[in-house]
Amino acid sequence: MDLAESVAPQYEALVIGAGVCGIYQAYCLDRMGLKTAVVDRASDVGGTWHWNRYPGCRFDSESETYGYSFSKDLLAEWNWTERFAPREETERYLQRVVEKFGLRKYMQLQCTVTSAHWDEKARAWSVALSDGRSLTTRFLLTAIGLLSAPTLPRYAGVESFKGQSFHTYYAPREPVDYSGKRVAVVGTGSTGVQLIAEVADKVGSLTVFQRRPNWCAPLNNGPISSEEMLDIKGRYDEIFERCHNTPSGFIHDVDPRKVMEASPQEREEFWEKLYASPGFGIWLGNFKDMLTDVGANAEMSKFVANKIRQRVKNPAVAEKLVPKDHGFGTRRVPMETRYYEAYNRDNVELVDISETPIERVTPLGIKTSDQEREFDIIIYATGFDAITGSFDKIDIVGSDGLRLKDKWRQGPVTAYGLAVQGFPNMITLAGPQSGSVATNFPRGIEEAVNWCSGLLEHMRKTNSTRVEAKAETEIAWGEQAKVWLQRILFGREQSWFTGYNSNVDREPTTRNMIYAGGAQRYREHLSQEVSEGYPGFEIQ
Ligand code: NAP
Repeated sequence: MDLAESVAPQYEALVIGAGVCGIYQAYCLDRMGLKTAVVDRASDVGGTWHWNRYPGCRFDSESETYGYSFSKDLLAEWNWTERFAPREETERYLQRVVEKFGLRKYMQLQCTVTSAHWDEKARAWSVALSDGRSLTTRFLLTAIGLLSAPTLPRYAGVESFKGQSFHTYYAPREPVDYSGKRVAVVGTGSTGVQLIAEVADKVGSLTVFQRRPNWCAPLNNGPISSEEMLDIKGRYDEIFERCHNTPSGFIHDVDPRKVMEASPQEREEFWEKLYASPGFGIWLGNFKDMLTDVGANAEMSKFVANKIRQRVKNPAVAEKLVPKDHGFGTRRVPMETRYYEAYNRDNVELVDISETPIERVTPLGIKTSDQEREFDIIIYATGFDAITGSFDKIDIVGSDGLRLKDKWRQGPVTAYGLAVQGFPNMITLAGPQSGSVATNFPRGIEEAVNWCSGLLEHMRKTNSTRVEAKAETEIAWGEQAKVWLQRILFGREQSWFTGYNSNVDREPTTRNMIYAGGAQRYREHLSQEVSEGYPGFEIQ
């Protein structure tokens, strides 16, 4: 290509998304001295932590494992106040990172990307924004989040409701007054579970519409004292080293024993300990076959079912809350704080919509097959068109007029979840099948961003302006994603991790949305690409 013929693009790198991933990518681009822009449709940085303003929103990662690891100065400065920080604290943290490292100047906020078209002649992307502007960039780096395309249920009459209603992702900025209100919550995933537990004692009445119950476990949150924070600061190297060496990027690692290798008493004691311990230990630090062997999993499910039955006073309600269609941990485990106890309150009702389906939303409330209930507020905690949904919202057109949406119609096809053949110079940070999807997110994205930054550096050094994944790399990676997903019980269940969402037009087939081979194996794949000079890519 005659570079002299083409006009240089406005930016060398354009990042879509100013959340956890986009902020770190901006930091790396800044250090590399590349002409950069970060665009985000929100009015401020923070991504997930900017949007999800529903009561009770917080993460399930130990706070000290959620912060970035790249700056000792930042680690020394920041104090987490709870073991599992609430939304507001994480949002403040991300804002502080942006200020501290002077990244604000790259941020173009309230900018929704509507399309991105590859221009082969210019070797650049042309990116259209909803305000009518168009930007050109050599590299397009997507940091658009895994869970940023919320989906409402498709019940008739959703728009007709006369009270206040919202999806949890779009919960209002200004505080909602719940006191004395008749509130409905539809959905009992991680979001619904947090919300229900938080508002149960603040509302007049709460009616929960549950389709399929999830297996929930106690978060066991608590404050971090200043002494504890000091201790954490002294152990950051050790903490990140531990996260680095677990399959999930959390501090929790699987127990080397199989379920049946332990005696019934040892099992009981171990599970009691996990149930009382903070965080995901009960899910990710359990016996090694708990998430791969049906029999082992059934034993664990019995243990948690008994916990639910002990905690919920009304046996009929308890039975409705015990999942019967999948085993413990085979879908994402919602972590809770007094969730089950909410159902012991007189003002809380559980409606099992697998028995009495919702027929429609009415101007006054929700009508199930047996009755209409009236509400002041309806909250939809109905989840997301996960991982690929935010890509589908942008008209991404690669070489030869190929649309990403069409290429991914039967499910995502990627090279390491980071690049797509036919879409040169686009790096899908935290894309489907990348290592970031099934890990402690900041740990996963640091890996992806570092790899991407290394690739851009390599291209600069070699005076290259075009990189594209090879078709054979995609085929091999698709095989990897499939093989690992089939090895875990998770891969058999319908959840957002396997591309299931009843609220979008899509066949309910299992999709290879995640790479389940673990963070260490993923890292080896990426390192090999680098050490061998990117054999999986065409670089010109
Ligand atoms: P989700 O896990 O997909 O749950 C959505 C819920 O809505 C499910 O109970 C689903 O029922 C129900 N639902 C969906 N459509 C419905 C319909 N038409 N009618 C009735 N019920 C309907 O979504 P989420 O709870 O928002 O969580 C998504 C992910 O976000 C989590 O898995 C987690 O990774 C992340 N998250 C993390 C945290 C945290 O760190 N603590 C907190 C919140 C969310 P079915 O199961 O029957 O489909």
